Amino acid sequence: MTQNIQVYNTLSRKKEKFVPINKSHVGMYVCGPTLYGPPHLGHARPSVVFDVIYRYLLHVGYKVRYVKNITDVGHLENDADAGEDKIAKKARVEQLEPMEVVQKYTLIYHENMAKLNVLPPTIEPRASGHIIEQINMVEEILKNGYAYVANGSVYFDVEKYNQDHPYGQLSGRKVEDLLSETRTLDGQEEKRNSADFALWKKASPEHIMRWPSPWSDGFPGWHIECSAMSTKYLGQEFDIHGGGMDLLFPHHECEIAQSVGSGGKAPVKYWLHNNMITINGKKMGKSLGNFINLDEFFSGNHKLLEQAYSAMTIRFFMLQAHYGGTLDFSNEGLKAAEKGLNRILDAHKVLITLKPNGEGVDIQPTKEACYKAMNDDFNTPIVLASIFDMVKIINSIHKNLQFINEKNLTLLKTTFETFVFEILGLKNSETKNTSTDISNEIMNVLIDLRKEAKRAKNFTLSDSIRDHLAKIGVTLKDSREGTSWEVKS
Ligand code: ZN
Repeated sequence: MTQNIQVYNTLSRKKEKFVPINKSHVGMYVCGPTLYGPPHLGHARPSVVFDVIYRYLLHVGYKVRYVKNITDVGHLENDADAGEDKIAKKARVEQLEPMEVVQKYTLIYHENMAKLNVLPPTIEPRASGHIIEQINMVEEILKNGYAYVANGSVYFDVEKYNQDHPYGQLSGRKVEDLLSETRTLDGQEEKRNSADFALWKKASPEHIMRWPSPWSDGFPGWHIECSAMSTKYLGQEFDIHGGGMDLLFPHHECEIAQSVGSGGKAPVKYWLHNNMITINGKKMGKSLGNFINLDEFFSGNHKLLEQAYSAMTIRFFMLQAHYGGTLDFSNEGLKAAEKGLNRILDAHKVLITLKPNGEGVDIQPTKEACYKAMNDDFNTPIVLASIFDMVKIINSIHKNLQFINEKNLTLLKTTFETFVFEILGLKNSETKNTSTDISNEIMNVLIDLRKEAKRAKNFTLSDSIRDHLAKIGVTLKDSREGTSWEVKS
């Protein structure tokens, strides 16, 4: 299936036709989390946004190599190369090995992502597993003259680089402004210029995470891991690089400079950035006390939450906004999302029971509207509007207020299921009676088994099923209509 997909490229600041470098194969890299604490809402948005993009590319027939890293080293408290390593600090506070911190939160992260129905990437590399690749890249940059060594650390020379290649194009920052900024941070005196950034940092004696290198025992700078790992798995040039808008500068700007500075080529064809989340109109921040963990959303256990919200409600809520716009979380918004999601899932239950009832509605325009919206920079709110159109149609066919023939009913089912489940990744889960549903299913299986046993004259088995159930208080009642059951308390 060929689709004319348009994507908004942060680099060119306009929508461009999506044409992968390697025809049907797409290389996509998304900056993953630095996990030194429980995953929160800020982790969920890029995950859901790029999951939908990944799902859509797969749906239209591309083979996608989707690389999403986990940062487990080198992300300092201050993005400008100062302060303690975020993970090492947490390890010290929790009295754990840094790798135990990463493992602990990676497991929770994976669990949370599964609940959000986020498909795992095809490769999930860790920075600490790619130290050699990072050292090699730093050596290349040094060889090309775009970096310098100072006291065992290596810094990228922004001024030198900018003489040959424009720096700041992605973020739109003026290099003159960056170079004229005064040094206000501690530990910056090794840098020739405050705009320079660390490629390798010499470890202080108390620093735990350290590796040998040609320059010192130390650790890589935060930005170099993404350049090294994307090059390793996707090549020097690849199609999509994604991440949150907060990573645009310095992280992504530095990634471009590192790739150009080592291999001579701009690494990314399409830069995609999801916008930020606010909570009740305020920026999320630890100091503001509005950092809500995903598990707290799922349990409702947070002072700002009026109730628990399922992972699917969170996912649905995010899909109601285009990824390029900001998204404000509030209890009102989430409750409305919960209702909207239930309307869709309830409509599906009705849809699967519908039978053709005559000539009437034409589903083709709705299907086309869904594709048109996805092709227009993955515009999920517009897709949802079409899905709600289908919900209305389903409900009126159910009441015989509208009519549909067999061909259109089939089209309605495939369009609805393709967009709701496969592309938007919504699913019917965590409804309040899940365990009841499961009990009903198990009882149906047992009743069928007993019927089979009786038919085969295996009365030992059929009696055994009845007696076992009786022991746990479940009574089977046989009648002409079949077998029913009740629980005696
Ligand atoms: Zn990154």
